[in-house]
Amino acid sequence: MEKFIPLSIPNFEGNEEKYVLDAVKQGWVSTGGAYITQLEEKLADYLDVPMVAACQSGTSALHLSLIECDVRPNDLVIVPALTFIAAVNPVRYQFAEPIFMDCDDSLCMNPIKLRKFCETECEKRERQLIYKKTGQRIKTLIVVHVFGNLTDMEAIMEIAEEFHLYVIEDATEALGSKFLTGKYAGKMAGTIGDFGAYSFNGNKIITTGGGGAVTAASEKTAEHMKYLSTQAKDDTLYYLHNEVGYNYRMTNLQAALGLAQLEKLPEFIKRKKDNYHKYAELLWEFAQCSILPFRENTDSNHWFYSLFVDRQKVSKELQQIITELQETGIQVRPIWGLICEQKPYRNAIAYEIETAKYYSERIVNLPCSTQITEEEIEYVVEVLVEVLV
Ligand SMILES: *Cc1c(COP(=O)(O)O)cnc(C)c1O
Repeated sequence: MEKFIPLSIPNFEGNEEKYVLDAVKQGWVSTGGAYITQLEEKLADYLDVPMVAACQSGTSALHLSLIECDVRPNDLVIVPALTFIAAVNPVRYQFAEPIFMDCDDSLCMNPIKLRKFCETECEKRERQLIYKKTGQRIKTLIVVHVFGNLTDMEAIMEIAEEFHLYVIEDATEALGSKFLTGKYAGKMAGTIGDFGAYSFNGNKIITTGGGGAVTAASEKTAEHMKYLSTQAKDDTLYYLHNEVGYNYRMTNLQAALGLAQLEKLPEFIKRKKDNYHKYAELLWEFAQCSILPFRENTDSNHWFYSLFVDRQKVSKELQQIITELQETGIQVRPIWGLICEQKPYRNAIAYEIETAKYYSERIVNLPCSTQITEEEIEYVVEVLVEVLV
């Protein structure tokens, strides 16, 4: 192994050390401190929303959103089949059940199938959507902006309105992606639905080690999520509580890292885009594979790159391709296994999952760290061509 090129590693070229050290020196390392509120304010500005609440993780941001939707035991929640499992697990935290939905060619939820599902498998009763087969209520829909690509939000929001569904946008992979035209022109991922969840885990476009944030269409709701995330304290001196809270608030140490990272976000997005175009340019002449595009008329953050392997033109199995790339020190990974095929969810409702299956057998994620050099990209493509052609 001559060279190791990681899939996605964090980049700390900015004020990270300075701010984290400052937080340590001040002694504010836990869930209180000025870096948390600063990060929240800067993030709200960036997203152009009234308020965000900083959280421990993207998962906790999604969980808080489901709680605000009043998702209860035995309820159904519509979720994507092709995504990271953290987008679905919080449904079970509420003792509710997922309904798995297919994707379209953007890898995000397919609105045509969603509509068909709502129209044929469900009925509306007193402003509630009911799954006909079991009589369970469906109140909420989670969409994921996969790899930084935006979901068709115009179609999704129309369906949600018609069928009385709350929309939670899992924007954990799409911080900075926005629409350029249409009804939501200028709107950022996570700011269109009723809730938007962000993640700052180690491999996301900006990181706080572990962390996340959540926003809501209603400022009051966002405020309430912050309250729930800090153990629902109604009196901080006498410790009075009127609700069951959670220990979901981000720490000041994480926020110090996050603030420095947020300063670099525009630069990171620029590099992600440049590197994406470099790959695309080098790969375009090969019929065996291509880089999947991002949705037209959007400005994506280009977080992760999806190499599409044309299996009619390549005899090797995807697993073999991945092994061979790994052996040369190029860290790649397959797209996730379908969640409806994972052990905890095999018995859940899965509605006509076809496109998700197709893509899950054909996509490999390529190295996409912001530090990757032009030479490294050329090397990855060189090896790719050897393996595939
Ligand atoms: C990363 C991720 C999450 C979870 O975020 P954490 O901060 O790791 O909890 C949820 N959904 C998707 C689609 C993700 O990629």
